[in-house]
Amino acid sequence: GPRADEILAKRKKFLNPAMFLYYKKHAMEGKMQYLYDENGRRYLDAFAGIVTVSVGHCHPTVVDAVVQQTRLLQHTTTIYLHHAIAEYAEALAQRMPGNLKVVYFVNSGSEANDMAMMMARLYTGSFDVIALRNAYHGMSPATMGLTAHSTWKYNVAQGFGVHHVLNPDPYRGPFGADGNLYANDLANLVESATPGRIAGFFHETIQGVGGAVELAPGYLAAAYDIVRKAGGLCIADEVQTGFGRTGSHFWGFQTQGVTPDIVTLAKGIGNGLPLAAVVTTPEIAAVMAQRLHFNTYGGNPMCSAAGHAVLKVLDSEQRQQHCASVGNHLLHRLRALQDKHALIGNVRGRGLMLGVELVTDRQAKTPAKAEAALLMEHLKDLGVLVGKGGLYSNVFRIKPPMCFSMQDADFLVDAMDHVMSKL
Ligand code: PMP
Repeated sequence: GPRADEILAKRKKFLNPAMFLYYKKHAMEGKMQYLYDENGRRYLDAFAGIVTVSVGHCHPTVVDAVVQQTRLLQHTTTIYLHHAIAEYAEALAQRMPGNLKVVYFVNSGSEANDMAMMMARLYTGSFDVIALRNAYHGMSPATMGLTAHSTWKYNVAQGFGVHHVLNPDPYRGPFGADGNLYANDLANLVESATPGRIAGFFHETIQGVGGAVELAPGYLAAAYDIVRKAGGLCIADEVQTGFGRTGSHFWGFQTQGVTPDIVTLAKGIGNGLPLAAVVTTPEIAAVMAQRLHFNTYGGNPMCSAAGHAVLKVLDSEQRQQHCASVGNHLLHRLRALQDKHALIGNVRGRGLMLGVELVTDRQAKTPAKAEAALLMEHLKDLGVLVGKGGLYSNVFRIKPPMCFSMQDADFLVDAMDHVMSKL
């Protein structure tokens, strides 16, 4: 295949300069939890195309399902009947708790959150929407308003009536791991900065781009109470935390014992095919029927086939349980690494959604941004790809395809130990 420098030159010339790059390497081929460059060198992929390749690169069951469907029929839109979207919607709805039974398929996480915002405003008749600081909900103008990182904010109108409250970050937040104290900030905001009635509240359960920040326990139950008393809908963004990745539960929100009114899904739902969804109750879904609503590609036969195959593989390969056991092993080993290296300020997360936060001073929690960038490059040289995130770009994000094995986990931690020892 073409060399990395040739691709880079074309990319510089023909692609928008906003696209940033982790490595100057050509990712030519993928097989389950591994990527291969143009020289056939193998890399352990601990970031899964940004938490998207859920069951594995080119997983044969998913590839077969998509190829078979693509040979038969690629696309018609929803103006004709097709079995793939109906059967898949049924299978997806069956995985949801409570009355979350109605699906609208779209193509990306941003689109899903856009639609959830619209539903909440239509359903409640209110306009104010609340999200957490350090949240990432998308890059469309409306969802960029929900996203709370300066990195991702353009100076364009992002829809007013969006407020941000303190995110319950047990490591950096002012109230440690006391979810109830953070919820007070939400109650204060509703009281002081809205008409008292709100449209909705968006949250991730583990903030992904924000650096694997798991919301303090008890937060969501308290927050949902406040939101519902103000007439608002609770919207769980499960774009990263869904499909068993947290190990203990199939959906992230279940780790805090709550049931949202709207759930948004993307990334891991389609193993890399452009697929996303908004799942809600029949009552809330009905507000969308005031007008015709249309989405050209949403849930098209190819993507529905992929999504349905992903669900089947998650079950047949018992991926949730696997995420729990490999994730626990990783946490255990990473905490031992933290005892050895002062650079590691915090190890956190659940299942195969983990964060390792690097600091130059444990007391002051000074972000080790330069060190994180350097170590990431060294890890790549050892054949290990991790993600990076957090407000200060100092958090390693470990979110591999869910087939990541115990041996892979050991290889990853040994590589981290090695590069940190040499720093
Ligand atoms: N929500 C979350 C939690 C995400 O991590 C992302 C993507 N990083 C999005 C929404 C937006 O998804 P997309 O890039 O598909 O628009």
